[in-house]
Amino acid sequence: MRSICAMRSLLAASTFLRSTASSLRPASRTLPSRLSLSRPRLGAARPVSAAAAESRGGGGSDSGMDDHLVRSGEIHVIVGPMFAGKTTALLRRVQVEAGNGRNVALIKSDKDNRYGLDSVVTHDGTKMACWALPELSSFQDKLGAEAYDKVDVIGIDEAQFFDDLHDFCCKAADRDGKIVVVAGLDGDYKRNKFGSVLDIIPLADSVTKLTARCELCGRRAFFTLRKTRETKTELIGGADVYMPVCRQHYLDGQIVIEATRIVLERSTVIHAMK
Ligand SMILES: [Zn+2]
Repeated sequence: MRSICAMRSLLAASTFLRSTASSLRPASRTLPSRLSLSRPRLGAARPVSAAAAESRGGGGSDSGMDDHLVRSGEIHVIVGPMFAGKTTALLRRVQVEAGNGRNVALIKSDKDNRYGLDSVVTHDGTKMACWALPELSSFQDKLGAEAYDKVDVIGIDEAQFFDDLHDFCCKAADRDGKIVVVAGLDGDYKRNKFGSVLDIIPLADSVTKLTARCELCGRRAFFTLRKTRETKTELIGGADVYMPVCRQHYLDGQIVIEATRIVLERSTVIHAMK
């Protein structure tokens, strides 16, 4: 019983600290254009956001319990091979949240500049403005503390390129009460884990593994086959470099690539001897 009382005291103290920290935040006045400003009504799916909106607007909350609910974030992870529709699913989710009146922000790595740095673009051409950053830890500084405080939902595309993904998600969801939606490759072309995406699975509220269509047989594709001989893990490219494949064609592809490598190496040696 004594330990239960002690735990309640700790929880009450922690709630008080959160409440105090929240009341110290300055009220936001302006937001950058990348934030969705329309807040026609708040979504019914997550009613605590109504209180969150009040608090983030500078109104504060009446009780410690309300503030505890306000600061409850979420992490949702979308993984799969290339061409599985991960970015499409991410944009759809973020746009739904914006439609429900939440402030949203989208981040991608500045390593991926295939479609420019100011927007996230799906393979079928859907587009949304974003922040292109070298690391996630710079997001709050770039946005500014007041605007960051106003953000309800953070979408992260190509998450495998961010080394600080785990720490950022912990802070954003656990401490700052954000809904974080993460899309990225779970595995690289060798089917090894890619970046830190798998490290956030234990933190996640939900995990969705999408599949593509095998480019060779049309069955469900779980893997990404690299068509070139380049061996570095991070090689940015599209359909010219990668294709989604089923398990059988991934294995067949590895055999073909290895056989090609041996043939090419032999011909290079023979050519050099002549
Ligand atoms: Zn196949």
